[in-house]
This record gives sequence, C-alpha cells and structure tokens, in this order.
Amino acid sequence: MTDPLLTERSDGFEYDLRMMCACGEATPLSAAEYEEGSHGARMACSHCGESIHYGPAVAALRDPADPALDDAALSSFAWYHTSTEPVWPSPNFAVDFVQGIDDRDLLMPSREAYIAEPTSKALHVGTYEAAIENMLRRMNDELDSHSQFYLYRVALNLDPTRINDGFRDENHEIASDITTHELDEQDLLAVRYLNVHEAIGTLSLAIRPQAILAVQRIALPVPRLAMPVDPAIDDGIRQAMTASRRLSDAADALPVTPIERRKMELGMKPDPTGAAKHYREVRHSYNDAVRRLEQRLEDAYLPFASALVRRAFTKAAAHWQSDGLEEYVTLYRTLAALVEHAQDVIEEVAVQGWRRVTAS
Ligand SMILES: [Zn+2]
Repeated sequence: MTDPLLTERSDGFEYDLRMMCACGEATPLSAAEYEEGSHGARMACSHCGESIHYGPAVAALRDPADPALDDAALSSFAWYHTSTEPVWPSPNFAVDFVQGIDDRDLLMPSREAYIAEPTSKALHVGTYEAAIENMLRRMNDELDSHSQFYLYRVALNLDPTRINDGFRDENHEIASDITTHELDEQDLLAVRYLNVHEAIGTLSLAIRPQAILAVQRIALPVPRLAMPVDPAIDDGIRQAMTASRRLSDAADALPVTPIERRKMELGMKPDPTGAAKHYREVRHSYNDAVRRLEQRLEDAYLPFASALVRRAFTKAAAHWQSDGLEEYVTLYRTLAALVEHAQDVIEEVAVQGWRRVTAS
C-alpha cells in the first residue's frame, strides 16, 4: 500500500454558529451568545424577523459550502476519530469485513451473535475538531475522565455513489444509533450527518468498517506540545491551594461522615461548635477560588477557543481537580495544546506509520 495523501480541512475551534428559522433561512449566532442562552435563548431571524428559539434542535450547517458535501471529495480528506481503544477499529471488524461475511453464515445463530455485538454499530469519523470535542464530552463522563485516549487519522476508501444525498440531521434521526444493518439495507457505505451536540454545525460520517482504508494513531494528550507555563496564573493556583488546605483542615475538625456533616449544615442535626457552619463557608470559598482559577486557565491557555469549547474543556478537566491542583493545571495546559496548537498535533499524527484496515 502506498501511503494515502490526504487533504486537511481544519475549521478551527474559534467558531460561531448558525441557527435555522422556520422560514428555511439560517441566521448567524456567536458561540458566546449560544452558550449564554440569554433572552430565553431567543433571537430574531435576519431574514423574516421572526423569533428563533435557538438550541441544538435548530442548529444549521456552519458552512453552507462545507467541502464534505462533495461525495467525490470525501475520500481525499483526512478524517479523525478519538477512542479509548488502543486498536481502532477492532481487529474483529477488519477480519469480518475484509474477508466478507458469507450471507449463509448470518443464518447461523452463534455466528450472528458473534458479529452482532462488535460490528452492528457504525463507526464515526469527523473533523479533527469534532474528534477532540467528542473526547472532551467523554472525559466529562465520570467513567472516562482519566482514560487514555487515542487520536486516529483516518483514510477512507468510499465509493461516491454509496453515500446518502445531502446529510442526515441529528435532530431528526440520532446518527450515533446508525447500525451497519441500516447501511446495508440502503446499500450505503457512509451516512453523512450534521452534528448538533458537539462541533455543532459540522458534518461527520457514520461508516461501515470496510470504508476505512488505513489509520494512523497517537496517544493523547501530547506532553511535548503542552502550552508553556504562564506565570500570570500562579496567584490563582496559590489561592486555590490555600483554599483547598483550609477545606481539608475544616473537614479534619469535623470527624463525621459526609452525610452527617451535610445534615448538620442543613440544621437537621445539631452543630454545637459551629464546625459544620464553618466547613460550609470554607467550602464556598474553595469553590469560588476554583472557579476563579478555571477562568484564569481559560484566559491563559484557551485564548482562541469558542465559548462552547471552553465550557466543554473546563468541565472535562475539572474531574482532575481532586487529583491535586498542580496535576490538574499541568493536565489543563497539556490538553489545551490539542485545541490551541491543533496544527502541531495533526502534524504529529500525520507522520505516524499507517495501519492497514481493509484491502483497497
Ligand atoms: Zn426566518
């Protein structure tokens, strides 16, 4: 196999959105306004003047001329996927689909059960930005907050005649539930769909494994690319660490279970020395100090990210605060490079060796 030569089409993390009106026209909306949801999340349509209740349900394609609308161009692009799986797609996919599954095998119950589990869900690929935002959402999920993630750069081998027309709107049909069976029914290799929950307004593909020609991989994040330490946030770290020490001192001074402490704070149990009241005050100032630190981290390390990316990022990284604030800050600036220095990360994965997934 000669190495695939793929075109990058980075659309960045500093983006705004467009919202669809019932009149059929889209109106621009800044990510900050979307994130704030002020005025009851209402805006005026710039075409007909009617009020639009904005949100995922009316998110429109960000770029009406998105290059991924061109069926013939899809296989020329670098696609991306993040996963906690060190080998993605799994070798089962490759074996089953490279060799082709004999239809008669499908009638055998055990064979059916075997292939149903790992191969029934379609695989998903999108822009680099969509892959990173997907990882942040998964990190925000408790189970994956400390998981090792991998970034895959994906070369596709798509027959342009076996892709759905236009795009499926995630609002109407949940794209993440697309099964390979559904693709089979319509004899499609890929379903193009509009993202409305993360990387809002971009196009991703739900594909059959045999649409993947080869993948490159790196582990995330990339410590070598971490954002340089910004001394301007030292103050914020010191304040949060002081508040953290005061919080553990206050907890030590009140040797009861967290549930009992909560009951004391709420006045459901007596608090004769006022230790529970003190704990509550200290906890509030700790939370304030952490929020101020988060704000400073966003300003220092995510200067060019949209408000939506900042929020997703800060929520995801917050799971690391309980590991110690210094570790948290180090993780933050290491992860931030995936957003702020995307080009360097893409260059890093693009020089890795290719792993062949299917025969071309
Ligand atoms: Zn309108």
